[in-house]
Amino acid sequence: MNNSKNILIVGAGFTGAVIGRELAEQGHQVRIIDSRSHVAGNCYSERDEKTGIMVHTYGPHIFHTDNQVVWEYLNRFTEMMPYVNRVKTTVNGKVFSLPINLHTINQFFETTCSPSEARALIESKSDQNIVDPQTFEEQALRFVGKELYEAFFKGYTVKQWGMSPAQLPASILKRLPVRFNYDDNYFSHKYQGMPKEGYTPIVENILNHPNISVELERAYQEEDSEGIDHLFFTGPIDSWYSYRFGRLGYRTLDFDKFYTEEDFQGTAVMNYGEENIPFTRITDHKYFAPWEKHEGSVCYREFSRTCMPDDTPYYPIRQMGEMELLNKYLSLAEQENSMSFAGRLGTYRYLDMDVTIAEALNMARIYLDSIENGEKMPVFTVNVR
Ligand code: FAD
Ligand code: UDP
Repeated sequence: MNNSKNILIVGAGFTGAVIGRELAEQGHQVRIIDSRSHVAGNCYSERDEKTGIMVHTYGPHIFHTDNQVVWEYLNRFTEMMPYVNRVKTTVNGKVFSLPINLHTINQFFETTCSPSEARALIESKSDQNIVDPQTFEEQALRFVGKELYEAFFKGYTVKQWGMSPAQLPASILKRLPVRFNYDDNYFSHKYQGMPKEGYTPIVENILNHPNISVELERAYQEEDSEGIDHLFFTGPIDSWYSYRFGRLGYRTLDFDKFYTEEDFQGTAVMNYGEENIPFTRITDHKYFAPWEKHEGSVCYREFSRTCMPDDTPYYPIRQMGEMELLNKYLSLAEQENSMSFAGRLGTYRYLDMDVTIAEALNMARIYLDSIENGEKMPVFTVNVR
């Protein structure tokens, strides 16, 4: 191909892999580097050496989407197995079903409500004075009321985010549905599933193209940009500018891994709602592959804390202070030529895998169009503010 471009992509997570594949398929030469010793970024999964159980090394990942294009794209590279995420939570010595559904409500209030009775009950508990909830706390008080909020959300959220739900945006809680039937599927999406052999082979398969070369354990260095036509950067946007204005705030996670010979908890994810229990949840990874047979369990106790310079950034905090800082970096970024920022770290947003893939497909298309039309490739292809 005469118009073949030399592309550098920093980061071999879903974002980098998908952009790389799309460009490679159009004849461009793609080099992808990643500072880690493996591909797939935070979606990386591997078999536990001792038990053979597939573990999600950076925390539990369940694929769910309404986007048919993304679902079909994923299924090109893996066999997806049926999987429905059914989360439980332990609070005050009792186990309840999440997301809040009719079973949760009936157990919690020791009632036998029908759907419409439960709706009326929750409405009577909710704070109707809150008209337009702005914070997580207001959203909870408005839609589930004080008792359910305090049992299931308050303590957990303080642990997860390190701050009061009164300081967090309502959007975080809006991710969770409240149902007045016995549907305990954690997600409401049309397509849900788990890759049969974990997430890593999906990314390996996406990267398996003659025009793509991958180098691991290679952090970006200036010389990597020599002779390239375009750079896609999927690392932290503030790291690109050597943190000159300060570091964007993230939460990081610590996982305390333990084994049990017997089945530990009988389910994949058990949340712990109380603030005085230091961890947020325990994941038993064998339950992510119900089609496999394993006797014991390999579990991760999950602790959330402030992300320090040497930690893995997980959840962008995106509070007022962080947004001010982000804007400073965005102002610099918007002046860049021949480079784009992408993915959850490049755009400092919490992104589910399906959104990550959709945005990567879109960014690749925009790049291909920009070459064809001789136009400048935008630095961002989504609204990051
Ligand atoms: P990443 O996966 O972070 O990849 C970025 C890569 O860039 C990394 O491998 C990093 O090493 C590399 N890199 C960074 N800087 C440099 C540098 N300077 N030089 C070289 N390499 C560099 N999504 C779901 O859909 N369902 C879930 O259930 C789900 N659960 C999650 C649970 C947790 C605990 C977390 C944190 C996220 C979860 N997600 C889930 C979101 C999912 O992890 C992301 O959508 C996905 O990882 C984003 O991919 P990415 O390629 O943008 O970023
Ligand atoms: N959350 C909670 N209690 C729970 C589960 C979730 O308070 O048992 C809150 C918490 O603040 C979390 C948010 O709801 O960040 C969104 O939940 P989700 O399960 O989507 O969190 P994630 O997948 O990001 O860990």
